[in-house]
Amino acid sequence: MENANETLFREALTHFPGGVSSPVRAFKAVGGTPKFFRKAWGARFEDEEGRRYVDLCMSWGPLILGHAVPEVLAAAREAMEEGLTFGAPSRRELVLARRIKTLVPFVEKMRFVSSGTEAVMSALRTARGFTGRDRILKFDGCYHGHSDGMLVQAGSGLATFGEPSSAGVPRAFADLTTVIPLDDPESLERVFAQQGDQLAAAIIEPIPANNGLLVQDLAFLQRLRELCSQHGTVLIFDEVISGFRVAPGGAAELFGITPDLVTYGKIIGGGMPVGLYGGRADIMAVVSPDGPVYQAGTLSGNPVAMAAGLATLEKLTPNLYRDLDRKAARWAQAFEKLPGLHAPRVGSLIWPLFQPGVKRADRVQAGAIAQFNRMHGLLLTQGIYLPPSGYEVAFLSAAHGDEELAHFERAIGVITPELRIQS
Ligand code: PMP
Repeated sequence: MENANETLFREALTHFPGGVSSPVRAFKAVGGTPKFFRKAWGARFEDEEGRRYVDLCMSWGPLILGHAVPEVLAAAREAMEEGLTFGAPSRRELVLARRIKTLVPFVEKMRFVSSGTEAVMSALRTARGFTGRDRILKFDGCYHGHSDGMLVQAGSGLATFGEPSSAGVPRAFADLTTVIPLDDPESLERVFAQQGDQLAAAIIEPIPANNGLLVQDLAFLQRLRELCSQHGTVLIFDEVISGFRVAPGGAAELFGITPDLVTYGKIIGGGMPVGLYGGRADIMAVVSPDGPVYQAGTLSGNPVAMAAGLATLEKLTPNLYRDLDRKAARWAQAFEKLPGLHAPRVGSLIWPLFQPGVKRADRVQAGAIAQFNRMHGLLLTQGIYLPPSGYEVAFLSAAHGDEELAHFERAIGVITPELRIQS
């Protein structure tokens, strides 16, 4: 007998490629049928069969406070009553901008957009417009959304020109992106020596969290900052995940490194579609209508999204970060009770992997991912929902309490012998 999720997925396959609105949701990596969710609260959500899960994916990051937080819902509802969109300036954009400036003062000027992808795409265009250069440097294992120039992987050769990592990306676009490994100071020196004067921007997730959690040495990031300054290259921190999550001022604050431009998303929308790019006022001065770099959006600065974002940021106190950090340490410890599992962590981002000490994307072993896939399925049966890919990090929220941790610890206990038998 088909269950409700299977029935819905069967129909979904007739509407959407892979049955989904975004690929990882299709469960291709871990196997099985995706769950369809109908409601969520706190750290939990319920699927269409009425099964409840402790959520460790949390919509991939926006929900640092938890699902359906009353203050966030109330703010969004209040804004909604006044109109869903104006397509004209509104006061709430200013209030959110002011709040963002107090948390990240290096953001002197900013522009709201509707997704992380858009924020990155626009920041890159801005850097190109500002420098008059075309080439971009990115790091293998960092994800920056799906704009053409970012769907690029390392080609062969040392200081590599990239190759498309997706069909449909013209080679000519990929040619303008240089890709080097993370955690590789020599490649970094070489690429700046060879191409520094052609690089419009270097873009990095300062806490790479899209190919697992590839925590970098501080010295590597500091050197990147120096090289960008020396060569007139715009340093872009992509803090779509780390922004307002690892500290009030994100990775820039945590590491004491100031980028020239930064991109945010996720948390600043509190669960609504928002992205932002911003930074040095002299660079942002090239953005339209002040300058010649065109960028626009029908729903940019949407009042309901601004309200949800503001309500979220207002609750992010130093105490909340301290609590979240303490809690996350206990969740990481609970993960590590599983034999062979290592759980690197930065704040509330945890990467459960059956392999120690990975800092580069190409070092992740297939066996470690296969073991993750088994763990994923077993934890699902225990009511624990991990992101459906071993290359994704787990997200904790302020709503993950003692009860959820106890549930998780019990689940880990139950699956340990089964995981041993299968491995
Ligand atoms: N940059 C980073 C670092 C991200 O993690 C993501 C999404 N996970 C993006 C950009 C793209 O954001 P979006 O999915 O909102 O387009």
